[in-house]
Amino acid sequence: MEQEIPRATAQRLPIYRRYLSYLKDAGKDRISSSELSEAVKVDSATIRRDFSYFGALGKRGYGYDVDTLLDFFTKVLNQDRLTSVGLIGVGNLGNALLNYNFRKNSNVRIGAAFDINPDLVGTIQAGIPVYSMDELEEQMDLQQLQIMIITVPENHAEEVVDRLIAADVKGILNFTPLRFEVPEGVRVQNVDLTNELQTLIFFIDQHIDGVE
Ligand code: ATP
Repeated sequence: MEQEIPRATAQRLPIYRRYLSYLKDAGKDRISSSELSEAVKVDSATIRRDFSYFGALGKRGYGYDVDTLLDFFTKVLNQDRLTSVGLIGVGNLGNALLNYNFRKNSNVRIGAAFDINPDLVGTIQAGIPVYSMDELEEQMDLQQLQIMIITVPENHAEEVVDRLIAADVKGILNFTPLRFEVPEGVRVQNVDLTNELQTLIFFIDQHIDGVE
């Protein structure tokens, strides 16, 4: 793939993949672009543009072949290979993620957790070993952890991210409210649950005020 895929497109790929997988289970072998658009709530022009980054995948008058498309997105999303990720900060949120452990998508799992709390280090939480932060670089290397989730308190996030960058991390899923400068080659996805909820409330309030 020569062209860089826009982030918005990349974020829609799992949505497409999930729906295609549902269609396959339901025994459907093809879908029109308008049906797909309706189901995933993405307009068909956007779908066509998203798909165009991967070459022409649909046929006029036929729509999309479910199997072909599903195989294709599965490969693009690396779902045919197990990706083990690490988590730093086994607090309330960290623990929730360890328990959740992306079971619905069996190809991604948290393989190791890290914390500074001596009461947690050396324990197994939700089936996942908790290592000391002293072992971070060594375990990242041994377990080939290239993607790390951070759920540490905000005031420790910067130092943790600096260490991850020095250890050649490839991707960071950031649950802290801090935003980081990272070198090229490192990707950060920010998940700000408070912000999401406030945005939702903002839109609902606007609606109630009749502004829309
Ligand atoms: P949450 O924000 O997830 O609700 P919490 O209130 O349970 O968390 P926090 O104080 O936010 O607890 O800490 C989350 C976890 O991060 C704790 O288990 C804490 O021991 C751990 N932690 C704090 N500082 C660091 C650090 N520098 N490196 C790794 N882990 C850390």
